[in-house]
Amino acid sequence: MKILVINSGSSSLKFQVIDMETEEVLARGVCERIGIDGIFTYKTGSGISFKEQVTMENHTQAVHVLLDTLIDPEKGVIKDFSEIDVIGHRLVHGGEKFTGSVVITDEVIEAMTECNDLAPLHNPANLIGVDACRRLMPDTLMVGVFDTAFNQTMEPKAFLYGLPYRYYEKYKIRRYGFHGISHKYVSQRAAEFMHQDLRRVKTIVCHLGNGASICAVKYGKVVDNSMGFTPLEGLVMGTRSGDVDPGALEFLAKKENLDLPQIMKILNQESGVLGISKNLSSDFRELKDAEIKYNEKASLAREIFAYKVAKYVGSYAAAMNGVDNIVFTAGVGENDSDIREEICSYLEFLGIHIDEVKNRESAEAIKISDGMSKVNVLVIRTNEELEIARQAAEVARRVQG
Ligand code: ADP
Repeated sequence: MKILVINSGSSSLKFQVIDMETEEVLARGVCERIGIDGIFTYKTGSGISFKEQVTMENHTQAVHVLLDTLIDPEKGVIKDFSEIDVIGHRLVHGGEKFTGSVVITDEVIEAMTECNDLAPLHNPANLIGVDACRRLMPDTLMVGVFDTAFNQTMEPKAFLYGLPYRYYEKYKIRRYGFHGISHKYVSQRAAEFMHQDLRRVKTIVCHLGNGASICAVKYGKVVDNSMGFTPLEGLVMGTRSGDVDPGALEFLAKKENLDLPQIMKILNQESGVLGISKNLSSDFRELKDAEIKYNEKASLAREIFAYKVAKYVGSYAAAMNGVDNIVFTAGVGENDSDIREEICSYLEFLGIHIDEVKNRESAEAIKISDGMSKVNVLVIRTNEELEIARQAAEVARRVQG
């Protein structure tokens, strides 16, 4: 079975073709600057690789470009479209309606459109990608894989805010949690790597990328997730603030004469380590370089980031009454050994000991805690595309019998 994975954003569309017999990536790429000047990047497992300017006025044209390339006799990896058995779409917000992956039908699109309000930046962009694929490959099975679905096992005590209950009833204001595709993949891979029974382990996944979230997974099910109603809550991120006292925002709005959209822009785009470092950078590599040159704000930004991660890990260990695995993943989690070491230094009370040599190694999956450690600390490369493909394949097998 071959699966085309699509991750459609507002001006970009990432794709991969995965052969599910071997889970090998046959081709991958990204259409960027759709509707602007159009840049197409493409790479195959057999070594073909290029980046070129291609006009893509809209997402349908972008899908056209990638499909034409996939069947091209020289650059392509398939002979014709019928070789693609399923298209798996990453969909960000499924509200409370979707607790798992689904075949994309008109009803699903309608239900997702109802969730647009909950993720105005992401959901419409996802749906444009779905629409483009449906136009060009109308007979191919499409499966939607939601970022919120894995988190739907949270109990009301974890997902309800301390707000009047009527707002949950009226508007479904609650914690949804995000990065579910990554948290699912990584928590399962951790159990597999450690030869554990997933139904018996308690895992805390630290997905630390530009967007960052922590997820408590007990016996294969999500207990809590640091992101909330939107992906703004929780950790201090690249440009997002994470948790802030709403009272401070009212104060700020009055002092600076700001309206709500201006406040939201500050929280989403001007805060996090970028804001703390006085606009130096949202990129942890650049912050580290600046820290080495004694830039105090860069140092403070990294310190605040690590402290906040450690606080969440501690609270999630309490939420699950224990923890067996702590896993670092995504850009920062996979690559920044200094941040990992700093976070773990707060967690010695859990009996955690890091092997400093292992912590500096790099692999698809690696255990960085030493033999004395009471908790396994792991670094695992996330693979959201593979998780989408696996879930899409599972749905396809179910419906096709
Ligand atoms: P997203 O998918 O949320 O955009 P990623 O998971 O790709 O984010 O992570 C991007 C972040 O990872 C960037 O802030 C970048 O600084 C960080 N990163 C990537 N490589 C390294 C590295 N070697 N050391 C430290 N940080 C890194």
